[in-house]
Amino acid sequence: MNSAPSASGHGVRLTAHPLQRVGAYALLALAGVADQQRSPESLTAAEFKHACRRMTADVVATADLPDTKAPQAFWLSASYLLWPNSKMNTTNRKSLSIAERRTQIGRWRSYSATVLDVPCALCGVAACGFYGKVDVPLGASVEHRNTTVPGHEGMALCVGCLASFHALPYGCSIRGGRAAALHSWDDDVLARMTRRQVHRTRQQALMSTGDTTATGRYSREVEALQGLRRYEHPMRAGVELYVFSNSNKQQALDVHSIEQPLAEWLRETLHPGQLGSGFRYLVRAHHTSKTLGSVRLAYNAFHLPERLAGTAVAYLARLTDALGGPPGETVELVALYQSFVREVLGVTQREIDQIEQLGDRIGQLLRTRPERGTLKEFEHVHSEPNKLQTWLKKQAVDWTLRREVSEPLVSTEQWRLLFEPGDRVRLHRDLLFISVLQHLAKQGWLADAATERNDQDDNLLVEERQ
Ligand SMILES: [Zn+2]
Repeated sequence: MNSAPSASGHGVRLTAHPLQRVGAYALLALAGVADQQRSPESLTAAEFKHACRRMTADVVATADLPDTKAPQAFWLSASYLLWPNSKMNTTNRKSLSIAERRTQIGRWRSYSATVLDVPCALCGVAACGFYGKVDVPLGASVEHRNTTVPGHEGMALCVGCLASFHALPYGCSIRGGRAAALHSWDDDVLARMTRRQVHRTRQQALMSTGDTTATGRYSREVEALQGLRRYEHPMRAGVELYVFSNSNKQQALDVHSIEQPLAEWLRETLHPGQLGSGFRYLVRAHHTSKTLGSVRLAYNAFHLPERLAGTAVAYLARLTDALGGPPGETVELVALYQSFVREVLGVTQREIDQIEQLGDRIGQLLRTRPERGTLKEFEHVHSEPNKLQTWLKKQAVDWTLRREVSEPLVSTEQWRLLFEPGDRVRLHRDLLFISVLQHLAKQGWLADAATERNDQDDNLLVEERQ
């Protein structure tokens, strides 16, 4: 059925095309290669043939199915978004016999041993044919649209690159009429995450009723963060989430990225054993009456990463205002916030220490005058530079009069961090605000226990979804 590629023609290469790379690693997993260190480029002819046979068996098996509603119709259903107009889903499908369908699908997936006098558009070795939408996801975005050789319907591909594209769907989460592939330029990350996804997709295909339309809100982003969780080494590159459909009706390609520092921070923070209360409270801070905290956090990580830190501060501010003092989550959430601004946003430890020192001093002042509602006043002025400056100057007088200390309340360096024009001053003022809350919380000024809000917790990011 599947004519085996020749030994000289099987070579799989890692190219500059992210989706081909995902497919190449999916081939490695489909070949049953257990050695985690091996590259797709090391596949032997026999291993390559084995992977291709598995894929062909899956698509040929759809010939027996009456329609996409049948049990185990996963690949038939998915074929409309992956391989539209292919032999799997021809318009005359219903009028063909099962044997005819099998023959046609098998022929489509028979890799030609022909070598053309044209280089593969991706890796440069001799191509075996020209391929278009039936075999290659051609995204809607112009920069990701694959080049077309003039006079031909598609691009020249070698057997290895063509098989990589056929294997790509195994490395994707296929739900909601879209396929989502997680890519990284860190080959080790890509290898492990793709291997895991191939396992899950094959499980899904075995158990599925064929319905690939159902999906939770932002489930792809949540799954992507779950994928980071199990990776055990520091990440050398960020991750990109490719969400695409090749469907005739809704061709689409969206790419969302997490830069390396944030990807590494999330991996480390989410890692089993590392997950402290701080992260749990960050999930809680993202919780709304309409959206689970994990889901909103995963969305922000890919789409609005700058909101991750701001959401934590807004949460503490909201509760402090409502409760009249720092909530039970304060100390752990502030520690997590500090690690975030240090590791992801590049705030130095010295800058954090400087602001924390000022926060401690302000906290000391506030504790001497709790009855005067000074905390509430500080809450109101902390985000507005002019008001905060006036407030600090006023407090500096008190500080000098009341204390037998030689240092001023605010040093020149601290003043500069808070007010010198730049894109970080807002962040530094937020850091000051939560440092004050941290001081008060550590001195026993907690307004309540963090357990008061257990009902807002969810743990989607640490759960393995099958
Ligand atoms: Zn190639």
